Amino acid sequence: MMEEKDFNKSVCIIGSGLSGLTCGMYLARAGFNVSVVEELTSPGGLLSYTRIGREYLELLPHHIRKSDKALISLSKEMGVEDNIVWAATKWSGLASSRSVGYFNGGFSCLISSLMQGITDNGGNILFSTTVAEISTLATADGSSGYRTSCILTNSTRYVLDSKYVIFTGSCRTFINVSHGLPIPMDFRDTVMNITYKAGITALMVLKQQKSVMFYQKAPAGMPFDSIINHSVAFTGRDYGGSVIYLKSQCSITDSIWIDSDASIMDKYFAAFRKLYPSVRKSDIKSWRLTKTRYALSTEYPQVDLTNPCENLYVCSAGLTRYGVTDTPKNHMDPVVALAIKISSDIIARAEAGNESESHSNGGPEVTNLTEYI
Ligand SMILES: Cc1cc2nc3c(=O)[nH]c(=O)nc-3n(C[C@H](O)[C@H](O)[C@H](O)COP(=O)(O)OP(=O)(O)OC[C@H]3O[C@@H](n4cnc5c(N)ncnc54)[C@H](O)[C@@H]3O)c2cc1C
Repeated sequence: MMEEKDFNKSVCIIGSGLSGLTCGMYLARAGFNVSVVEELTSPGGLLSYTRIGREYLELLPHHIRKSDKALISLSKEMGVEDNIVWAATKWSGLASSRSVGYFNGGFSCLISSLMQGITDNGGNILFSTTVAEISTLATADGSSGYRTSCILTNSTRYVLDSKYVIFTGSCRTFINVSHGLPIPMDFRDTVMNITYKAGITALMVLKQQKSVMFYQKAPAGMPFDSIINHSVAFTGRDYGGSVIYLKSQCSITDSIWIDSDASIMDKYFAAFRKLYPSVRKSDIKSWRLTKTRYALSTEYPQVDLTNPCENLYVCSAGLTRYGVTDTPKNHMDPVVALAIKISSDIIARAEAGNESESHSNGGPEVTNLTEYI
């Protein structure tokens, strides 16, 4: 049975992607009792990686921009900033080159250091565990909290009770797991109106480099919309070949979404060959196809939806804004900034609720955290 004092510093974080692990690391360091629950078998979420040759590589193409202030600062804090390599890259349609960054050894170094920050400070990360429902919980002393109901892959069910909950999946999934929560109707309606595009990405390892362009927009009518030539920018890696991503966005009602991986690969390869006629199937050393159900939200909500009820937070990329454009873009930086904001809010709340005790356990200063928001 958890002591009342422990309960007041307990947090259940749903999702072990970049934002869930960032929240978990800061809160565990600040002395919170952290449980991260992840439905997949491994961490990273959209940053999931696999072994390619002798390196780890993300299944979806991920790169850093010099303007990614919160992300670069987090990397520095985790001691992996020096692993970032910057490359001047050519983009189709752009006269000047663009600087993009990537971790020597992949994003796995950041993900691993965040996980270690959680477990070294007494936190748990539970994989293969799907959150089915979050409901309110009234404790014996009258204080409120949340009950997170989970299902394991072998159908075993169990619950996690905590004072705080942070949900980091898509807004659609949040709606599905939050029916029992006292969320205002207008909030629920606004979140329900956030729709998502799906994505299909092929990761190919080719025998040789096919272009000097890092980023190429595909001509209209191709099954993919862009080509990201990872190896042209980040050379000297032991992938066993040249890494190229073919990336597309689609709707789950498009027929390609339910096609088999092999059939999609055939379509992608036929289109790729139209661009590079010399390429042969035998030039592909290996390939992996990744379907992402919630790849990109289609519009930004105009109101702040990140804190729908007391002590419960939604740290979802679909609620963050990148730059001044009204078209949602896929970027890690704003969601890292949001994770830092939410962690600092929870730390401040716990401290305000218990002024007399010192909660600091080497955790971040709240004032330092808000700098990136
Ligand atoms: C194709 C693609 C390319 C991208 N490229 C870039 C790039 O180059 N640069 C950049 O800055 N950003 C890029 N992004 C965006 C970046 O991936 C995201 O902003 C970031 O990874 C979001 O992290 P997150 O932790 O918020 O969410 P996620 O990574 O989605 O993590 C959420 C986690 O929650 C888990 N989860 C969800 N529901 C449940 C449940 N009910 N129970 C348990 N667990 C659950 C999921 O399994 C997942 O692991 C890209 C995105 C895509 C799709």
